[in-house]
Amino acid sequence: MITATSQNFNVSDLGYYGQFGGAYIPEMLYPNVEHLRSVYLDIIAEPSFQEEFYSLLRDYVGRPTPLYYAKRLSDFYKTKIYLKREDLNHTGAHKINNTIGQILLAKRLGKTRIIAETGAGQHGVATATACALMGLECVVYMGAVDIERQKPNVERMQMLGAKVVPAMSGSQTLKDATNEAMRDWITNPTDTHYIIGSVVGPHPYPDMVTRFQSVISEEIIAQLREKEGCEAPDYVLACVGGGSNAAGAFYHFLDNNDVQLIAVEAGGKGVNTGFSAATTALGKPGVLHGSMTYLMQTQDGQVVEPFSISAGLDYPGIGPIHAHLFASGRARFESITDDEAMIAGKFLSRTEGIIPALETAHALAYLEKLGAKQHEIVVVNLSGRGDKDLQTYIEGAQERPHH
Ligand SMILES: *Cc1c(COP(=O)(O)O)cnc(C)c1O
Repeated sequence: MITATSQNFNVSDLGYYGQFGGAYIPEMLYPNVEHLRSVYLDIIAEPSFQEEFYSLLRDYVGRPTPLYYAKRLSDFYKTKIYLKREDLNHTGAHKINNTIGQILLAKRLGKTRIIAETGAGQHGVATATACALMGLECVVYMGAVDIERQKPNVERMQMLGAKVVPAMSGSQTLKDATNEAMRDWITNPTDTHYIIGSVVGPHPYPDMVTRFQSVISEEIIAQLREKEGCEAPDYVLACVGGGSNAAGAFYHFLDNNDVQLIAVEAGGKGVNTGFSAATTALGKPGVLHGSMTYLMQTQDGQVVEPFSISAGLDYPGIGPIHAHLFASGRARFESITDDEAMIAGKFLSRTEGIIPALETAHALAYLEKLGAKQHEIVVVNLSGRGDKDLQTYIEGAQERPHH
Protein backbone atom coordinates (compact mmCIF):
# COMPACT_ATOMS: atom_id res chain seq x y z
CA MET A 1 0.00 0.00 0.00
CA ILE A 2 1.12 3.55 -0.59
CA THR A 3 1.15 4.27 3.15
CA ALA A 4 3.82 1.68 3.90
CA THR A 5 6.94 3.03 5.59
CA SER A 6 10.59 2.19 5.37
CA GLN A 7 12.85 2.07 8.43
CA ASN A 8 15.87 4.02 7.29
CA PHE A 9 14.98 5.69 4.06
CA ASN A 10 11.58 7.16 4.76
CA VAL A 11 11.22 10.87 5.21
CA SER A 12 11.36 12.29 8.76
CA ASP A 13 8.56 14.37 10.27
CA LEU A 14 10.43 17.50 9.26
CA GLY A 15 10.81 16.31 5.71
CA TYR A 16 14.41 15.08 5.74
CA TYR A 17 16.13 12.05 4.27
CA GLY A 18 19.33 12.04 6.30
CA GLN A 19 20.66 15.58 5.82
CA PHE A 20 18.70 16.14 2.59
CA GLY A 21 15.23 17.48 1.88
CA GLY A 22 13.37 20.02 4.00
CA ALA A 23 11.35 22.96 2.71
CA TYR A 24 13.52 25.94 1.74
CA ILE A 25 10.82 28.21 0.39
CA PRO A 26 10.02 31.90 0.22
CA GLU A 27 7.76 33.07 3.05
CA MET A 28 4.99 33.79 0.53
CA LEU A 29 4.80 30.09 -0.36
CA TYR A 30 4.80 28.89 3.24
CA PRO A 31 1.00 28.80 3.86
CA ASN A 32 0.38 26.59 0.78
CA VAL A 33 3.18 24.16 1.45
CA GLU A 34 2.44 23.98 5.18
CA HIS A 35 -1.25 23.29 4.56
CA LEU A 36 -0.37 20.50 2.13
CA ARG A 37 2.11 19.06 4.62
CA SER A 38 -0.45 19.02 7.42
CA VAL A 39 -3.10 17.11 5.44
CA TYR A 40 -1.47 14.92 2.78
CA LEU A 41 -0.86 11.78 4.85
CA ASP A 42 -4.36 11.73 6.29
CA ILE A 43 -5.96 12.26 2.90
CA ILE A 44 -3.87 9.56 1.21
CA ALA A 45 -4.72 7.11 4.00
CA GLU A 46 -8.50 7.58 3.68
CA PRO A 47 -10.15 4.38 2.39
CA SER A 48 -12.18 6.41 -0.14
CA PHE A 49 -8.97 7.95 -1.50
CA GLN A 50 -7.21 4.60 -1.81
CA GLU A 51 -10.24 3.09 -3.48
CA GLU A 52 -10.51 5.91 -6.05
CA PHE A 53 -6.73 5.98 -6.68
CA TYR A 54 -6.40 2.25 -7.28
CA SER A 55 -9.55 1.98 -9.37
CA LEU A 56 -8.38 4.81 -11.68
CA LEU A 57 -4.93 3.21 -11.92
CA ARG A 58 -6.61 -0.02 -12.95
CA ASP A 59 -9.35 1.14 -15.32
CA TYR A 60 -7.97 4.41 -16.66
CA VAL A 61 -4.18 4.10 -16.54
CA GLY A 62 -4.12 0.35 -17.28
CA ARG A 63 -2.36 -1.03 -14.19
CA PRO A 64 -0.86 -3.33 -13.19
CA THR A 65 1.65 -2.85 -15.96
CA PRO A 66 3.23 -6.15 -17.08
CA LEU A 67 6.52 -7.44 -15.70
CA TYR A 68 7.85 -8.85 -18.95
CA TYR A 69 10.60 -11.49 -19.16
CA ALA A 70 12.80 -10.25 -22.01
CA LYS A 71 14.11 -13.54 -23.36
CA ARG A 72 16.30 -12.36 -26.23
CA LEU A 73 17.80 -9.57 -24.13
CA SER A 74 18.42 -12.08 -21.32
CA ASP A 75 20.12 -14.52 -23.68
CA PHE A 76 22.35 -11.75 -24.98
CA TYR A 77 23.47 -10.56 -21.54
CA LYS A 78 23.45 -14.08 -20.03
CA THR A 79 21.25 -13.21 -17.07
CA LYS A 80 17.51 -13.00 -16.31
CA ILE A 81 16.10 -9.63 -17.32
CA TYR A 82 12.57 -8.45 -16.59
CA LEU A 83 11.20 -5.17 -17.93
CA LYS A 84 8.62 -3.33 -15.82
CA ARG A 85 6.43 -1.92 -18.57
CA GLU A 86 5.61 1.62 -17.42
CA ASP A 87 5.65 2.53 -21.12
CA LEU A 88 2.27 0.79 -21.40
CA ASN A 89 0.57 3.24 -19.04
CA HIS A 90 -1.96 5.66 -20.52
CA THR A 91 0.06 8.63 -21.92
CA GLY A 92 3.12 6.41 -22.27
CA ALA A 93 5.15 6.80 -19.09
CA HIS A 94 5.13 6.48 -15.30
CA LYS A 95 4.29 10.16 -14.75
CA ILE A 96 0.53 9.54 -14.81
CA ASN A 97 0.73 7.54 -11.53
CA ASN A 98 1.67 10.75 -9.75
CA THR A 99 -0.69 13.13 -11.54
CA ILE A 100 -3.68 10.86 -10.81
CA GLY A 101 -2.72 10.80 -7.12
CA GLN A 102 -2.21 14.55 -6.92
CA ILE A 103 -5.38 15.46 -8.81
CA LEU A 104 -7.43 13.38 -6.35
CA LEU A 105 -5.68 15.19 -3.51
CA ALA A 106 -6.35 18.58 -5.14
CA LYS A 107 -10.06 17.76 -5.45
CA ARG A 108 -10.26 16.87 -1.77
CA LEU A 109 -8.57 20.19 -0.95
CA GLY A 110 -11.31 21.98 -2.90
CA LYS A 111 -8.90 23.32 -5.54
CA THR A 112 -10.31 24.29 -8.95
CA ARG A 113 -7.15 25.25 -10.82
CA ILE A 114 -4.02 23.18 -11.46
CA ILE A 115 -0.56 24.39 -12.43
CA ALA A 116 2.48 22.34 -13.43
CA GLU A 117 5.98 22.72 -14.86
CA THR A 118 7.25 20.58 -17.68
CA GLY A 119 10.53 20.01 -19.55
CA ALA A 120 10.08 17.50 -22.34
CA GLY A 121 6.33 17.87 -21.94
CA GLN A 122 5.66 14.38 -20.55
CA HIS A 123 4.62 15.65 -17.12
CA GLY A 124 2.63 18.44 -18.77
CA VAL A 125 0.72 15.90 -20.84
CA ALA A 126 0.08 13.67 -17.80
CA THR A 127 -1.18 16.69 -15.83
CA ALA A 128 -3.36 17.97 -18.69
CA THR A 129 -4.81 14.45 -18.98
CA ALA A 130 -5.69 14.25 -15.27
CA CYS A 131 -7.23 17.75 -15.40
CA ALA A 132 -9.39 16.87 -18.39
CA LEU A 133 -10.49 13.72 -16.57
CA MET A 134 -11.57 15.75 -13.53
CA GLY A 135 -12.78 18.88 -15.33
CA LEU A 136 -10.24 21.21 -13.70
CA GLU A 137 -8.53 24.23 -15.27
CA CYS A 138 -4.91 23.48 -16.22
CA VAL A 139 -1.98 25.83 -16.81
CA VAL A 140 1.42 24.33 -17.74
CA TYR A 141 4.63 26.37 -17.61
CA MET A 142 7.24 25.35 -20.14
CA GLY A 143 10.54 26.93 -21.15
CA ALA A 144 10.30 28.80 -24.46
CA VAL A 145 13.21 26.73 -25.82
CA ASP A 146 11.48 23.48 -24.81
CA ILE A 147 8.24 24.62 -26.46
CA GLU A 148 10.17 24.80 -29.73
CA ARG A 149 11.95 21.46 -29.16
CA GLN A 150 8.90 19.47 -28.04
CA LYS A 151 6.11 20.64 -30.30
CA PRO A 152 4.07 17.38 -30.40
CA ASN A 153 3.68 17.40 -26.62
CA VAL A 154 2.68 21.09 -26.64
CA GLU A 155 -0.04 20.21 -29.12
CA ARG A 156 -1.17 17.25 -27.03
CA MET A 157 -1.55 19.49 -23.97
CA GLN A 158 -3.54 22.03 -25.98
CA MET A 159 -5.73 19.27 -27.42
CA LEU A 160 -6.49 18.22 -23.82
CA GLY A 161 -7.59 21.78 -22.99
CA ALA A 162 -4.53 22.99 -21.09
CA LYS A 163 -2.98 26.42 -21.46
CA VAL A 164 0.78 26.27 -22.14
CA VAL A 165 2.64 29.34 -20.89
CA PRO A 166 6.22 29.96 -22.09
CA ALA A 167 8.89 30.68 -19.45
CA MET A 168 11.08 33.41 -20.94
CA SER A 169 13.71 33.78 -18.21
CA GLY A 170 17.18 32.17 -17.88
CA SER A 171 17.92 29.34 -20.25
CA GLN A 172 14.17 29.05 -21.00
CA THR A 173 14.12 25.38 -19.98
CA LEU A 174 12.83 23.22 -17.11
CA LYS A 175 14.32 25.03 -14.13
CA ASP A 176 12.92 28.35 -15.42
CA ALA A 177 9.48 26.79 -15.93
CA THR A 178 9.66 25.56 -12.31
CA ASN A 179 10.43 29.09 -11.11
CA GLU A 180 7.45 30.48 -13.05
CA ALA A 181 5.10 27.84 -11.61
CA MET A 182 6.22 28.71 -8.07
CA ARG A 183 5.59 32.41 -8.80
CA ASP A 184 2.08 31.57 -10.05
CA TRP A 185 1.35 29.58 -6.87
CA ILE A 186 2.38 32.51 -4.67
CA THR A 187 -0.03 34.74 -6.61
CA ASN A 188 -2.93 32.23 -6.55
CA PRO A 189 -2.67 30.44 -3.21
CA THR A 190 -6.31 29.62 -2.50
CA ASP A 191 -7.83 28.09 -5.62
CA THR A 192 -4.66 26.54 -7.10
CA HIS A 193 -2.74 23.29 -6.52
CA TYR A 194 0.76 22.89 -7.97
CA ILE A 195 1.40 19.35 -9.29
CA ILE A 196 5.19 18.83 -9.25
CA GLY A 197 6.29 16.11 -11.67
CA SER A 198 9.12 14.37 -9.84
CA VAL A 199 10.43 13.61 -6.35
CA VAL A 200 11.80 17.15 -6.08
CA GLY A 201 10.64 20.41 -4.50
CA PRO A 202 9.93 21.26 -0.86
CA HIS A 203 8.61 18.71 1.63
CA PRO A 204 6.03 17.09 1.34
CA TYR A 205 6.40 16.79 -2.46
CA PRO A 206 9.30 14.31 -2.61
CA ASP A 207 7.54 11.97 -0.17
CA MET A 208 4.10 12.42 -1.71
CA VAL A 209 5.33 11.71 -5.24
CA THR A 210 7.39 8.72 -4.02
CA ARG A 211 4.29 7.21 -2.39
CA PHE A 212 2.22 7.58 -5.56
CA GLN A 213 5.00 6.05 -7.67
CA SER A 214 5.66 3.25 -5.18
CA VAL A 215 2.88 1.28 -6.86
CA ILE A 216 5.64 0.25 -9.30
CA SER A 217 7.66 -1.75 -6.74
CA GLU A 218 4.48 -2.93 -5.03
CA GLU A 219 3.51 -4.61 -8.30
CA ILE A 220 7.03 -5.93 -8.99
CA ILE A 221 6.93 -7.86 -5.69
CA ALA A 222 3.60 -9.53 -6.49
CA GLN A 223 4.66 -10.28 -10.06
CA LEU A 224 8.02 -11.80 -9.09
CA ARG A 225 6.26 -13.98 -6.54
CA GLU A 226 4.07 -15.33 -9.31
CA LYS A 227 6.75 -15.71 -12.00
CA GLU A 228 9.84 -16.65 -10.00
CA GLY A 229 8.52 -17.69 -6.59
CA CYS A 230 10.60 -14.97 -4.93
CA GLU A 231 9.76 -11.51 -3.63
CA ALA A 232 12.79 -9.56 -4.72
CA PRO A 233 15.21 -9.35 -7.64
CA ASP A 234 18.99 -9.12 -7.30
CA TYR A 235 19.09 -5.75 -9.08
CA VAL A 236 16.70 -2.92 -9.86
CA LEU A 237 17.86 -0.47 -12.55
CA ALA A 238 16.20 2.86 -13.28
CA CYS A 239 17.15 6.14 -14.92
CA VAL A 240 17.19 9.31 -12.82
CA GLY A 241 16.20 12.80 -13.89
CA GLY A 242 14.55 14.12 -10.75
CA GLY A 243 14.17 10.50 -9.73
CA SER A 244 10.46 9.64 -9.56
CA ASN A 245 10.45 6.44 -11.62
CA ALA A 246 13.54 5.25 -9.74
CA ALA A 247 12.02 6.13 -6.35
CA GLY A 248 8.88 4.17 -7.25
CA ALA A 249 10.82 1.15 -8.49
CA PHE A 250 13.16 1.16 -5.46
CA TYR A 251 10.70 2.00 -2.70
CA HIS A 252 9.60 -1.39 -1.39
CA PHE A 253 13.16 -2.73 -1.66
CA LEU A 254 14.87 0.07 0.28
CA ASP A 255 15.14 -1.96 3.47
CA ASN A 256 16.19 -5.16 1.73
CA ASN A 257 19.96 -4.93 1.39
CA ASP A 258 20.05 -8.04 -0.79
CA VAL A 259 18.57 -5.96 -3.59
CA GLN A 260 21.15 -3.82 -5.38
CA LEU A 261 19.62 -0.51 -6.44
CA ILE A 262 21.23 1.14 -9.44
CA ALA A 263 20.36 4.70 -10.44
CA VAL A 264 21.51 5.75 -13.89
CA GLU A 265 22.13 9.43 -14.60
CA ALA A 266 22.63 11.17 -17.92
CA GLY A 267 26.32 11.61 -18.67
CA GLY A 268 25.53 13.73 -21.74
CA LYS A 269 28.57 14.04 -24.02
CA GLY A 270 30.71 12.71 -21.13
CA VAL A 271 30.95 13.56 -17.43
CA ASN A 272 33.99 15.81 -17.85
CA THR A 273 33.05 17.56 -21.09
CA GLY A 274 31.01 20.41 -19.60
CA PHE A 275 27.94 18.93 -21.34
CA SER A 276 26.51 16.54 -18.76
CA ALA A 277 23.65 16.05 -16.33
CA ALA A 278 25.39 13.51 -14.06
CA THR A 279 24.41 15.21 -10.81
CA THR A 280 26.07 12.92 -8.27
CA ALA A 281 29.34 12.85 -10.24
CA LEU A 282 29.49 16.63 -10.70
CA GLY A 283 27.32 18.12 -7.98
CA LYS A 284 27.65 19.22 -4.38
CA PRO A 285 25.03 19.66 -1.67
CA GLY A 286 22.98 22.81 -2.00
CA VAL A 287 19.43 24.10 -2.24
CA LEU A 288 17.44 23.72 -5.46
CA HIS A 289 13.71 24.30 -5.91
CA GLY A 290 12.96 24.15 -2.20
CA SER A 291 15.05 21.26 -0.96
CA MET A 292 18.59 20.48 0.20
CA THR A 293 20.05 18.03 -2.26
CA TYR A 294 22.91 17.41 -4.69
CA LEU A 295 23.04 19.87 -7.54
CA MET A 296 25.43 20.97 -10.24
CA GLN A 297 26.70 24.39 -9.21
CA THR A 298 29.56 26.83 -9.68
CA GLN A 299 32.05 27.69 -6.89
CA ASP A 300 29.74 30.47 -5.72
CA GLY A 301 26.59 28.37 -5.82
CA GLN A 302 25.01 29.33 -9.16
CA VAL A 303 23.19 26.48 -10.88
CA VAL A 304 25.16 25.01 -13.80
CA GLU A 305 23.21 24.33 -17.00
CA PRO A 306 22.84 20.57 -17.42
CA PHE A 307 23.06 18.79 -20.76
CA SER A 308 21.55 15.53 -21.97
CA ILE A 309 20.25 14.31 -25.31
CA SER A 310 17.17 13.26 -23.36
CA ALA A 311 15.02 16.18 -22.23
CA GLY A 312 13.55 14.21 -19.31
CA LEU A 313 16.99 13.76 -17.70
CA ASP A 314 18.21 17.29 -18.43
CA TYR A 315 17.93 18.55 -14.83
CA PRO A 316 20.74 19.97 -12.63
CA GLY A 317 19.61 18.23 -9.41
CA ILE A 318 18.13 15.02 -8.03
CA GLY A 319 15.39 14.48 -5.47
CA PRO A 320 16.52 14.49 -1.81
CA ILE A 321 15.69 10.79 -1.38
CA HIS A 322 18.31 10.05 -4.04
CA ALA A 323 20.81 12.42 -2.47
CA HIS A 324 20.44 10.32 0.68
CA LEU A 325 20.61 6.99 -1.17
CA PHE A 326 23.82 8.23 -2.82
CA ALA A 327 25.45 9.68 0.32
CA SER A 328 24.57 6.60 2.41
CA GLY A 329 25.74 4.20 -0.30
CA ARG A 330 22.40 2.36 -0.33
CA ALA A 331 22.06 2.89 -4.07
CA ARG A 332 24.80 2.95 -6.68
CA PHE A 333 24.83 5.94 -9.03
CA GLU A 334 26.24 5.46 -12.50
CA SER A 335 26.18 7.54 -15.64
CA ILE A 336 25.62 6.74 -19.30
CA THR A 337 26.49 8.99 -22.24
CA ASP A 338 24.17 10.18 -25.00
CA ASP A 339 25.80 7.79 -27.48
CA GLU A 340 25.55 4.77 -25.18
CA ALA A 341 21.86 5.50 -24.57
CA MET A 342 21.13 5.87 -28.29
CA ILE A 343 22.74 2.49 -28.98
CA ALA A 344 20.84 0.80 -26.15
CA GLY A 345 17.52 2.27 -27.31
CA LYS A 346 18.02 0.96 -30.82
CA PHE A 347 19.20 -2.40 -29.50
CA LEU A 348 16.07 -2.94 -27.39
CA SER A 349 13.90 -1.96 -30.37
CA ARG A 350 15.52 -4.62 -32.58
CA THR A 351 15.85 -7.29 -29.87
CA GLU A 352 12.46 -7.15 -28.16
CA GLY A 353 10.25 -5.02 -30.42
CA ILE A 354 9.96 -2.31 -27.78
CA ILE A 355 11.02 1.27 -28.57
CA PRO A 356 12.02 2.81 -25.22
CA ALA A 357 12.11 6.49 -24.29
CA LEU A 358 15.62 7.94 -24.53
CA GLU A 359 15.50 8.47 -20.76
CA THR A 360 14.86 4.76 -20.22
CA ALA A 361 17.58 3.87 -22.73
CA HIS A 362 20.12 5.15 -20.17
CA ALA A 363 19.05 2.45 -17.70
CA LEU A 364 19.13 -0.19 -20.45
CA ALA A 365 22.63 0.86 -21.51
CA TYR A 366 23.92 0.03 -18.06
CA LEU A 367 23.16 -3.67 -18.72
CA GLU A 368 26.42 -3.63 -20.73
CA LYS A 369 28.38 -2.89 -17.54
CA LEU A 370 26.32 -4.64 -14.88
CA GLY A 371 27.99 -8.05 -15.03
CA ALA A 372 25.02 -9.91 -13.54
CA LYS A 373 25.36 -13.69 -13.22
CA GLN A 374 23.31 -16.23 -15.19
CA HIS A 375 20.93 -17.10 -12.34
CA GLU A 376 20.47 -13.53 -11.09
CA ILE A 377 17.29 -11.54 -11.64
CA VAL A 378 17.51 -8.00 -12.99
CA VAL A 379 14.50 -5.70 -13.18
CA VAL A 380 14.82 -2.67 -15.46
CA ASN A 381 12.14 -0.05 -14.98
CA LEU A 382 11.00 0.75 -18.52
CA SER A 383 9.87 4.27 -17.60
CA GLY A 384 8.35 5.28 -20.94
CA ARG A 385 7.89 4.68 -24.63
CA GLY A 386 10.07 6.20 -27.31
CA ASP A 387 7.61 7.57 -29.87
CA LYS A 388 8.52 11.11 -28.82
CA ASP A 389 12.22 10.37 -29.47
CA LEU A 390 12.01 8.82 -32.93
CA GLN A 391 13.51 11.85 -34.65
CA THR A 392 16.49 11.86 -32.29
CA TYR A 393 17.05 8.12 -32.73
CA ILE A 394 16.90 8.44 -36.52
CA GLU A 395 19.30 11.39 -36.66
CA GLY A 396 21.93 9.54 -34.59
CA ALA A 397 23.11 6.76 -36.88
CA GLN A 398 25.20 4.68 -34.46
CA GLU A 399 24.73 0.96 -34.15
CA ARG A 400 25.62 -1.22 -31.19
CA PRO A 401 29.28 -2.40 -31.49
CA HIS A 402 30.02 -6.13 -31.62
CA HIS A 403 30.80 -7.89 -28.39
C1 LIG B 1 10.20 12.37 -17.08
C2 LIG B 1 10.75 11.06 -17.43
C3 LIG B 1 11.88 10.54 -16.78
C4 LIG B 1 12.66 11.28 -15.74
O1 LIG B 1 11.92 11.65 -14.61
P1 LIG B 1 12.10 10.90 -13.21
O2 LIG B 1 11.36 11.77 -12.26
O3 LIG B 1 13.56 10.83 -12.93
O4 LIG B 1 11.51 9.56 -13.34
C5 LIG B 1 12.31 9.26 -17.12
N1 LIG B 1 11.69 8.55 -18.09
C6 LIG B 1 10.61 9.02 -18.74
C7 LIG B 1 9.99 8.18 -19.80
C8 LIG B 1 10.11 10.30 -18.45
O5 LIG B 1 9.05 10.76 -19.11
